[in-house]
Amino acid sequence: MAPSCEIGVIGLGVMGRNLLLNMADHGHVVAGFDRNPDQVKFLGRESGGNEAVKGATDVRSFAALLKRPRKVLLLVPAGDAVDSVIREILLHVAEGDLLIDAGNSHFRDTERRARELAPSGIRYLGVGVSGGEEGARHGASIMPGGPRDAYESVKGVLEDAAARADGEVCIAYLGPGSAGHYVKMVHNGIEYGLMQLIAETYDLMKRGLGLASGELAPVYDRWNRGEISAFLVESAARVLGRLDERTGRPLVDLILDTAEQKGTGTWTSQDAMDLHVPVPTIDAAVAMRNLSGLKALRVEAERALAAPQRTFRGDRERFVERIGGALLGAMILTYAQGMAQLGKASQVYGYGLSLADVARIWQGGCIIRSALLKGIRKAYERKADLPSLLLDPGLGRELESRQEELRAVVQTAAGMSIPVPAMMASLAYLDGLRSGRLPANLVQAQRDQFGAHTYERVDQAGKFHTRW
Ligand code: NDP
Repeated sequence: MAPSCEIGVIGLGVMGRNLLLNMADHGHVVAGFDRNPDQVKFLGRESGGNEAVKGATDVRSFAALLKRPRKVLLLVPAGDAVDSVIREILLHVAEGDLLIDAGNSHFRDTERRARELAPSGIRYLGVGVSGGEEGARHGASIMPGGPRDAYESVKGVLEDAAARADGEVCIAYLGPGSAGHYVKMVHNGIEYGLMQLIAETYDLMKRGLGLASGELAPVYDRWNRGEISAFLVESAARVLGRLDERTGRPLVDLILDTAEQKGTGTWTSQDAMDLHVPVPTIDAAVAMRNLSGLKALRVEAERALAAPQRTFRGDRERFVERIGGALLGAMILTYAQGMAQLGKASQVYGYGLSLADVARIWQGGCIIRSALLKGIRKAYERKADLPSLLLDPGLGRELESRQEELRAVVQTAAGMSIPVPAMMASLAYLDGLRSGRLPANLVQAQRDQFGAHTYERVDQAGKFHTRW
């Protein structure tokens, strides 16, 4: 068969299959390959016999379908699978061809792979894709990084597969090297933070106020129609409203309370630590996923350790509104931490990121899309090198109006023994950032006292050591 396909996808799972069909919807002739022949058959069925969608069950015939220079998108699980697929496809591609890893690869792996492929003249892009199944099928948020000329050669087809928000396409070239995968990693870190915050609001209303899951769906639905409009809030409303077909009970009540993870949240926290950027809300979210995994220990500790069981006293409706305000405030603080991490990473790793572009392409298609991103984008358009989102007058005012609600909710939660670590961490981030003087002077003094690490003074220049 003559090579006729503009682009090929390896890995026809949830993301690969849907992205391929999305591209075909836009008039591109595409090829798909998966090691599992059933996935190839499934692609054929899903395409409804579209002639522009071609499937291959071996990598050689897949490569033969692609026009030169070949463009191959990889959508396989991060880690060894990507290396193994690259080794396989390398036997069938040539200098000038382009490999695009669109999975959730660690940014360091992306740098290594680009380096390893460079001598053979194979070009390499690391592209973050967000939006899940729906986004891949009907428009995703796409975060490309790598050599700009390589991106330009595939820009048209990727733009067609991207979501639109306010008439703008949710894709932008982000920078060289691993810029795309770095931005996607932090996107996922923010996602962890927002999901933990939403879970805390759920816990407060369910355990704290005694609302049933069915009563909660309308609360999230209402929030989603107002200032807290966000995909993840909408998703919570949908999930909480679903009844189990077998028992007729809210499905969420029947789901085991152990949250899994694929690593991107942990990577965000780890690299933030390496860069010395505080992202306490994301750290708390990762820690709570880990704590959720200790199910047996939690059950044992619940029996062994007493906690004050105070019931809520006060105006319940008002408290629900306060929880909404607290969520909005904490969401601003979570985006602020993620954006600060991107700003630092951009300097240290030389990405040259435009944070306004990042906020813009997150406005549609992706899991962390929310009404807040409009203001975040404007903040960076006003001042590209804004040192913290919290210093933007618009967002700063919004936060000011929410901080008392956040404070009140955290206090009440602590009183009721309900864990809200992401809210607490968000509030502490705010209070820490706005403390012109922190107790780190005592930390420095003690470091000098036991380790002779020296300290600086506020009234004289230089390094000092005291024989304490
Ligand atoms: P799926 O598990 O649905 O599909 C992965 C595909 O890759 C499967 O067809 C699988 O084949 C194939 N595969 C797995 N291991 C290998 C291997 N060693 N060699 C060759 N093929 C292999 O995953 P997704 O589509 O959900 O995810 C793909 C990538 O996209 C991942 O990096 C993921 O993190 C990322 N992603 C996923 C999102 C989502 O919402 N699902 C959102 C954004 C990014 P087989 O069936 O034989 O195992």
